[in-house]
Amino acid sequence: MRYTVGMSILTDVHTHTAFSPDGQSDILQMLARAKELPLAFWGIAEHFDYDYLTDGIPFGEEGATFTDPEKYFAAARGLQARERDVHILVGGEFGFTRNPAAAPLYRALAEKYRPDFIVNSVHTDGTGDYYYKTPFAGKDKKTAYLRYLTLVRDSLDADYPYDVVGHLGYPARYAPYADKRMDEPEFSALLDDILSQIIARGKILEVNTCAFGSSSPFLPFPAILRRYHALGGRDISFASDAHQTARLAEGRAETAKALKDIGFTRIAVPCRGEKIYIDL
Ligand SMILES: [Zn+2]
Ligand SMILES: [Zn+2]
Repeated sequence: MRYTVGMSILTDVHTHTAFSPDGQSDILQMLARAKELPLAFWGIAEHFDYDYLTDGIPFGEEGATFTDPEKYFAAARGLQARERDVHILVGGEFGFTRNPAAAPLYRALAEKYRPDFIVNSVHTDGTGDYYYKTPFAGKDKKTAYLRYLTLVRDSLDADYPYDVVGHLGYPARYAPYADKRMDEPEFSALLDDILSQIIARGKILEVNTCAFGSSSPFLPFPAILRRYHALGGRDISFASDAHQTARLAEGRAETAKALKDIGFTRIAVPCRGEKIYIDL
């Protein structure tokens, strides 16, 4: 590894390449950028949105299709075997739904392709993705956010393997409310339950710098991360959620500083059921 003493070791374990329907950069371009930074650990988490599939939610973008696991895993595993500078982690992002039809699909995918890590994320409320604002229709913030948090709590009980709880606070990216925050007292009981369960189950809480529109530099909101730390939570991962080369590791330095100010000392990298710890 080409790291010098005192240089922070860069990790980014939730990114998307063009194998994802909304990924914009080819996997080779992404790898070239990962080497340029350089990232020590680069995790690819292509979208497997079986929540869309089972709930009949249409993709908004023209021509979008699902990640083809056969093509993706073959290509990414090939790169992983050849690459010497960057530790490539070949993972996936699973979209949680309460629909019981999705879990067997996720289990089958996990068993067949053995992803190095899995990010479990809530993107939809069963009717549409927060990205398309469908779940906000006719709802005030309290109603919409409580529904989202209840889904996140349910997602922790998902009947398929996962390592990381993805972008907690996702609706804040797209919420039509003047105040987007989710760290208010009316959400604290549910949040405490979620954070405590993440700790109890040994899962990793992701810190995601794709937070545009949320009024926060990253998700979860800093106050929620402070609460996680106060409850004893120590396992956090760093994620840019980049869908293109330009955003790889975006916000890493500022985020590391904010995390250190809270009291975190390390970043966890999920890898085949283990956690690799890197000093912040
Ligand atoms: Zn996501
Ligand atoms: Zn993602």
